[in-house]
Amino acid sequence: MRIGGIEAGGTKFVCGVGDEQGEIYERVTFPTTTPEETMGKVFSFFQDKEIEAIGVGSFGPIDVDRASETYGYITQTPKVKWKNYNIVGELKNHFHVPIGFHTDVTAAALAESTWGAAKGLDSCLYMTVGTGIGVGAVIDGKPFQGLTHPEMGHILVKRHPNDPFEGVCPYHGDCLEGLAAGPALEKRWNKKGQELTDQPEVWEIESYYLAQALMNYILVLSPKKIVVGGGVMKQEHLLPLVRKQVLELLNGYVAVPELTPESIDRYIVLPGLGDNAGLAGSIALGVNGK
Ligand code: ADP
Ligand code: ZN
Repeated sequence: MRIGGIEAGGTKFVCGVGDEQGEIYERVTFPTTTPEETMGKVFSFFQDKEIEAIGVGSFGPIDVDRASETYGYITQTPKVKWKNYNIVGELKNHFHVPIGFHTDVTAAALAESTWGAAKGLDSCLYMTVGTGIGVGAVIDGKPFQGLTHPEMGHILVKRHPNDPFEGVCPYHGDCLEGLAAGPALEKRWNKKGQELTDQPEVWEIESYYLAQALMNYILVLSPKKIVVGGGVMKQEHLLPLVRKQVLELLNGYVAVPELTPESIDRYIVLPGLGDNAGLAGSIALGVNGK
C-alpha cells in the first residue's frame, strides 16, 4: 500500500511516500511559508502519487478530537497565518482518501514504537528538545489523547539553585520549554546550544530540568520506553547526565529492572529512526487512519 506522510513543521514541511513496512520511497522538503503557498506544494507533490491514505504529523496546538467541529485544524499557533487553519479539510478537498492526523511528536512516538527504538512495545514516549519541547505518547498501542493532545513540554519543574533565568515561554515563562528548549539556552547563555558544548554548568542545569520532566512522565504514564530527540540532544554528553539524574531523583522508588544503572541506557534512548522519525510517524498515522 502506498501511504503519504506529511511532517508539518513550523519551519519546514517534509512530504513523502512510504508503506506499512516503514519503507520510505521518496521525500521532499520545503520551507513553511503561507498556508496557500506551502499547501500548494503539498498538493502538487501528492497529485500523481496514487496514495491510498495520508497521515499528517503537525506542529500545534491542533484539534485532534474527531467529534469536534474544528477537528483537523491547527488552532493556537503563534504563526498567525496558520492560526485556525483547517489542514485536514483542505487535504480532504484534494484527496479522497482516509487521513490520519496528530501532533508531530505523537507521530514520532508511533513511528518509534512501530519500527524504531520501541519496536514491539505497546507504549512509548517521544520527547523532542529543539526549538520547543514537545512530547508525544503511544499508550496501549495507540496515540494518546484526552480532551485534546497532552502538552507535556509545558509542565512546571523545580528551579535549579544556580539558575536565575526567567524563562522564555510566552504563556508560562519558566515552564520546562521556557527553561530548557534551544531558545532558552541561547537567551540564558548568549550563545546557541551548538556553541556551549564545553561549558559543564550549562548541561548541569539543562539535565536537571530534563530529568525532572522524565521522572514526572515515568511516574504519571509509566511508559515502556522513552525516546529523546531534537537538536539539543545532539550534545552527546547530555543524555548520560539526564539518565543519571533520573535515577537519582526516582531514588529506587519505581522498582522495575528498566530503572536501574545497568538498564537505564536501554530505557531512555535516542531515536532509532534518527531524523526520519517525523516523516515515518506521519506515514504511520496514515496507516492508522485507514
Ligand atoms: P525544530 O525543533 O525546529 O524541529 P531542531 O530539533 O533542530 O529543530 O532544534 C533546533 C534548536 O536546537 C535550536 O534552538 C538550536 O540552537 C538547537 N540545537 C541544534 N543543534 C544543536 C546542538 N548540536 N547542540 C545544542 N543545541 C542544538
Ligand atoms: Zn510553557
